[in-house]
Amino acid sequence: MGKSFVTMAVCPICRKETGDLLMDTQVRDVFERYTMTPEPCQECRENYLSHGVLIIAPETNRIAVITDDAFRRAFNMDMPEKKIAFCEEPVMDWILTKPEEETPA
Ligand SMILES: [Zn+2]
Repeated sequence: MGKSFVTMAVCPICRKETGDLLMDTQVRDVFERYTMTPEPCQECRENYLSHGVLIIAPETNRIAVITDDAFRRAFNMDMPEKKIAFCEEPVMDWILTKPEEETPA
C-alpha cells in the first residue's frame, strides 16, 4: 500500500519487453521487475492481432489468441476495441480446450 515500483512493461503474448517503463502503483501482476500489460508489442500486434483477437484472463495472466472468425462464432459480439478482450477463468479454460487451428505456440 502506498508503494510504487517502476517496472518494465512486457508484451502479454511473447513476454518480451515492449520498451515502456511503467510506474506500477498497484503492485499487481509484477513478476521480477517486469509487468505484464494488456498492450501487445508492435510485432505481436502485426503477427496475431491483424487477424485475431487477444483474450486475457486477468486473474491468472493466461492469454489466448483466437481468430476474428472464431471470436465472432464463440462470443457472438462485435470485435473489441484494439482487438483485446478480457474474460473470466472458466471462459479461458473453454477457449484453451476447444480445438483451434491458429493458436500461437
Ligand atoms: Zn509481443
